[in-house]
Amino acid sequence: MNKVIDFRSDTVTRPSQAMRHAMMQAEVGDDVYGDDPSVNCLQSKLAEMAGHEAGLLVASGTQSNLIALLTHCGRGDEYIVGQQYHTYLYESGGAASLGGIVPQPVPVESDGSLSLSAIEAVIKPKDIHYACSTLLSLENTHLGKVLSNGYLAGAIELARQHGLKTHLDGARVFNACVAQKLSLESITAQFDTVSICCSKGLGAPIGSVLCGPRDFIEAAKRWRKMVGGGMRQAGILAAGIEYALDHNVLRLEEDHDHASSLQIGLSKIQELRVENAHTNMLYVELESREMGIRLGEYLKQRGILISAGKRIRLVTHLDINHTDIEQMLHHCEQFFSN
Ligand SMILES: *Cc1c(COP(=O)(O)O)cnc(C)c1O
Repeated sequence: MNKVIDFRSDTVTRPSQAMRHAMMQAEVGDDVYGDDPSVNCLQSKLAEMAGHEAGLLVASGTQSNLIALLTHCGRGDEYIVGQQYHTYLYESGGAASLGGIVPQPVPVESDGSLSLSAIEAVIKPKDIHYACSTLLSLENTHLGKVLSNGYLAGAIELARQHGLKTHLDGARVFNACVAQKLSLESITAQFDTVSICCSKGLGAPIGSVLCGPRDFIEAAKRWRKMVGGGMRQAGILAAGIEYALDHNVLRLEEDHDHASSLQIGLSKIQELRVENAHTNMLYVELESREMGIRLGEYLKQRGILISAGKRIRLVTHLDINHTDIEQMLHHCEQFFSN
């Protein structure tokens, strides 16, 4: 079977033989009883790496963010979030519909941040007319863009001054670490809580970990049970994730290099408006949606998958190598030279 080169997302990675082997060897128990040694080991390990007291393995990034929001905020509380952030836009309105939590979106700046003055402007006074501003939720990376630690420190400081808790949707925070050559802890420890996806660039098949203070994680366990996220012999998943932490973090740099190579190569094609690749994502705009659809069809016939449209997102990951990048560039050049 010919290899399919899949640029749609870094969630498409498949567990390697070595990762499957680690999963097969996993010691397991019933994690709802707290008895799964592999889950317990992973949770402590990642929490420590993130500079937090405790961690909780959950089914997905969406579930992790939902549980964080449900634990931080009660009914009638408000969280401040980017209008285009995943937690607000792509999680089916879970916080509002399941938790009665009021979202207060603010526009996202071109660098992926929320301006501090925009945040400050929507924080409500303590007054019965308003929802209670309770939490600031940021995202790093956002559309592949890295938020600097200087920015994060300022945003957290502002939140604290106003008595808000802070949550980081760090679905791809390891990409931010590798891009800046910083430890995970240096980015995540200052937040009250952080959610980390393991099924994206890290290449594990399933799972996210929510990290925070021990009492927070204890409370989060109840919400995880309520939303149906109490898993049993989840050590099989935890072992795959632990393998990913040991083997697949530093190699994210290759993904970033591949995204840069794509940027350089595609920039030579006149019909394309190519944005900067900051980490493992590249956005490319075409003249029309129709042209994007035709390009998508053309590439599909040649074993390359993209999310076709007017603005195309290309994501690099551990199942895409240097030759695949060359293939992609070659076929794009061919398509536009016809
Ligand atoms: C992928 C992603 C999530 C979680 O997605 P799941 O598919 O539920 O694991 C959360 N936030 C961001 C920024 C993401 O990219």
